[in-house]
Amino acid sequence: MSNTPTVISDYQQSIESYRQLISSTGEDLERPGLEDTPQRAAKAFAHLTQGYHQNLEEVVNDAVFPSTNRELVLVQNIEFYSLCEHHMLPFHGIAHIGYLPNGQVLGLSKFARIIDMFARRLQIQENLSEQVAQTIMDVTGCRGVAVVMDASHMCMMMRGVSKQHSTTRSTAMLGEYMHDNQARNEFLNALPRRQPAF
Ligand SMILES: [Zn+2]
Repeated sequence: MSNTPTVISDYQQSIESYRQLISSTGEDLERPGLEDTPQRAAKAFAHLTQGYHQNLEEVVNDAVFPSTNRELVLVQNIEFYSLCEHHMLPFHGIAHIGYLPNGQVLGLSKFARIIDMFARRLQIQENLSEQVAQTIMDVTGCRGVAVVMDASHMCMMMRGVSKQHSTTRSTAMLGEYMHDNQARNEFLNALPRRQPAF
C-alpha cells in the first residue's frame, strides 16, 4: 500500500484518449453534442482518480485529538464512489468504520476523506476496505479497527452477468478485532441493516 501519489495524469493525453475511444464507436466527434465531450470526460476522469494525487498528511491535516475514551466509535453510512480496476466501471456503496481508540481519536470528517482518497483510484473493493482500515490504524494508533463496505458494481449490473440486485460486502479487521469475537460482534451488531442494491 502506498499513500504517496505515484501517478501523475496527463490531461492532454487523457483528452486524446477519449477522442480515440469515442471515434472507435464510429461516432462523429464533430457533432455538437460530442464536440467538447473528450475534454469533459477527461476532467471527470481526473476527478474520479484524484486520490492518486492526495497524500495522507494533507487529508488528515493534524485532526488527531487526545481522548480518554477507549470504547467503540462507529462512523456509519459513509457513501463512497470508486472505479473497478478491471473494467474501469463505477462501484459505489456505503462504508461503516468502527475503531477502539487508544489515547487519541480522529476528527469525524476525516474518515470520509480517507475513504475518498483511496476510493478515487482504480480499485477493487476488497483492497479498498483494507487500505482504509490500515490507514486508520496507522494514523490513530488505535487498539483495533473494523471496516465494512457494501457496494453495487456496475460491471456486474450493466454487463457480464447483468445482476442488478447483488451487492458485495467486504470486511477488514485489524488489531483487537482480528481475535476478539466479542468486539467483532459488538461492531457487527451495531451496523445498520444491510441495504439491497442501490
Ligand atoms: Zn469490474
